Amino acid sequence: MKKLVAANWKMNGEGSWSTKPAALASLLGDNMPENVQVLFCPPAVYLDRIATEAGKFGMNAGAQNCHASASGAFTGEISAQMAADCGADYVICGHSERRALFGETDAVVRAKADAVIAAGLSAIICVGETLAYRESGEAEATVEMQLKGSIPTTSTALNTVIAYEPVWAIGTGKTATLDDIEQMHGHIRKVYGQLLGDKSAGKLRIQYGGSVKPANAKEILSAKGVDGALVGGASLKMEDFAKIILAG
Ligand code: PEP
Repeated sequence: MKKLVAANWKMNGEGSWSTKPAALASLLGDNMPENVQVLFCPPAVYLDRIATEAGKFGMNAGAQNCHASASGAFTGEISAQMAADCGADYVICGHSERRALFGETDAVVRAKADAVIAAGLSAIICVGETLAYRESGEAEATVEMQLKGSIPTTSTALNTVIAYEPVWAIGTGKTATLDDIEQMHGHIRKVYGQLLGDKSAGKLRIQYGGSVKPANAKEILSAKGVDGALVGGASLKMEDFAKIILAG
């Protein structure tokens, strides 16, 4: 099971960024770790060209979001199948920014993940507690509730990745302690096992996300139960992203 190190570019980038996979490949050279799978999630309008470029170097591409419906009157949206047509292998579902800024509930996230799986892609389902829930000792309960509400019955370890992203750690420079990360990843695996069986849970990839940087990547990616990273800010510069991948 390769570690999945994913770049979430959010609403950043421009057409000229299609050279980034090549730039990354040249920075990695012969040192690309065999146990790491690299994923670029650019804005949807660049997905096609990034997927083409990433594919040349054995890297993958994914969408940051999609609609749960296959087609219809949903101006401005894209379907999972459209992401697939553009070369995506993954779709991020329920990123905390989508949950907080676009009102995505667990039920919406579940419907999107279901659509992603039905389109033959893998869903990266994001969960994570706010600072208030962490401080009141309800982090595990919050994440458990999100998992139970967001994971579709069609989920398997092959078509699903869970990204644990404490909301307070995203884009803030703060990271969870290694103990907290390991404990939460263990909890996520346990809950996934309750929902879909322990055998599946044993193979499930669980990423950590939240201010992963070159300086902390090694210890985070080596932590127990951490099967990759979802990287925002530090994935915009290939020099930084390469260092994170090399730490994998
Ligand atoms: C993210 O957007 O998923 C994320 C983890 O961002 P950052 O790495 O900037 O905290």
